[in-house]
Amino acid sequence: MTSLTRADWEQRAKTLKVEGRAFIHGEYCAAQSGATFECISPVDGRLLAQVVSCDAPDAEIAVRDARATFDSGVWSRLAPVKRKAVMIRFADLIEQHGEELALLETLDMGKPIGDSLHIDVTSAARAIRWSGEAIDKIYDEVAATPHDELGLVTREPIGVVAAIVPWNFPLLMSCWKLGPALATGNSVILKPSEKSPLTAIRIAQLAIEAGIPAGVFNVLPGYGHTVGKALALHMDVDTLVFTGSTKIAKQLMVYAGESNMKRVWLEAGGKSPNIVFADAPDLKAAAAAAAGAIAFNQGEVCTAGSRLLVENSIKEQFVPLVVEAIKSWKPGNPLDPATNVGALVDTTQMNNVLGYIQAGHDDGAKLVAGGKRVLEETGGTYVEPTIFDGVDNAMRIAKEEIFGPVLSVIGFDTVEEAVAIANDTVYGLAAAVWTSNLSKAHLTAKALRAGSVWVNQYDGGDMTAPFGGFKQSGNGRDKSLHAFDKYTELKATWIKL
Ligand code: NAD
Repeated sequence: MTSLTRADWEQRAKTLKVEGRAFIHGEYCAAQSGATFECISPVDGRLLAQVVSCDAPDAEIAVRDARATFDSGVWSRLAPVKRKAVMIRFADLIEQHGEELALLETLDMGKPIGDSLHIDVTSAARAIRWSGEAIDKIYDEVAATPHDELGLVTREPIGVVAAIVPWNFPLLMSCWKLGPALATGNSVILKPSEKSPLTAIRIAQLAIEAGIPAGVFNVLPGYGHTVGKALALHMDVDTLVFTGSTKIAKQLMVYAGESNMKRVWLEAGGKSPNIVFADAPDLKAAAAAAAGAIAFNQGEVCTAGSRLLVENSIKEQFVPLVVEAIKSWKPGNPLDPATNVGALVDTTQMNNVLGYIQAGHDDGAKLVAGGKRVLEETGGTYVEPTIFDGVDNAMRIAKEEIFGPVLSVIGFDTVEEAVAIANDTVYGLAAAVWTSNLSKAHLTAKALRAGSVWVNQYDGGDMTAPFGGFKQSGNGRDKSLHAFDKYTELKATWIKL
């Protein structure tokens, strides 16, 4: 817990040292081209830093170095118990620098400082520590062989991993990849989003301080179509792990096919249904969760509960409860610890969200909360949490991922209808069900085509639960031991005795 006030955070922001350079072989460096781009805060439009804009020549240097480091065995062949100790030190350092990292995150992408500190930083450190702690407790297999043979089934680090991550949870998404990738002995090149590169750049130095050898963890800030594409097309990157939009995820599969068939693991978009049945145990709690599911992190959450499916028999009673609950989610200065809704990541994203609000009006949905840009005088990019009732699942606001605080309320009459609407999407990331009927909860959960299903809550789970999507929400899983599959190759060694 911190007792820092808004004034304290503002003061710290003034003197904060912001590193904007790339990190290759244990050192901060410029791009080969010397190019940089401006990193602007969505909080109030202030310039935070000139950030190095990497491109193909930088990817070339980083991949070559990551490969050499991998082949040297300095990390890849280190005993798991030793890698574990380093990973735990890395997690400790992230925590020790928690306030600095939280401030960077909030200034860079606009989320409330309380969330940055108590959710992003805490969960990021946990992801690193959990993966490190696990690595000396995993055993390989011995096959059921005849007496005169020995069959070993072992896992090996895959080599050079490129991790391309989005801007909504910059540090946390990075650490969901870094944890298992580093724990299993790979060399990693992290490409943060051009919209929020600062925490990724900062933790590279912490990794070195923790004892991760130079060349094992590199950071290449820059644009997707430049350095991101160069990594995705690189012939010597073994695995590409990605979190971001479905559109770019599909493109990465093409790049892999056009190059070396690198493994591609994708965590992509969502349009998650939150289904409230008339027999939900506590309608007020369900309404509060429904509001939080769209307002938390300004709705910039891949699992945002953006489609609220409500049984028609309680809809008239339930929607006002959600409208009431969302009043407690108010945009404010992200550096104020009392703020629970911050700024959208940039003007482009704000305009996307406002465009969807207009589409909701145009398609005949009924606005019942929010709907406007606010706090314009701050120079920041703030939009009120917004609710549309009377939405049809075919409308654009129900079909497309908005990635902002815009909720679509859709009525239904039967379990079958609820499931049909819920599954009528190209996505399959998450879903929630509210009912006090145990069988209905289980049967509905089974029928939902989604990687995570929550019952009588929204967004539960921690590092112990695999996270990822069905359908066009992606493949593979982050978190839990299942995530380790992405970072290892399986080898069968068959020995004649
Ligand atoms: P995005 O797809 O635009 O960008 C993601 C990353 O890909 C960025 O680093 C970007 O620079 C890079 N990129 C863009 N074009 C590229 C190219 N041609 N080649 C290589 N890299 C390229 O996504 P975003 O706007 O940063 O993030 C929002 C999206 O992320 C949403 O769709 C959201 O649902 C998704 N997301 C998913 C999860 C999940 O776990 N499933 C979690 C968080 C966010």
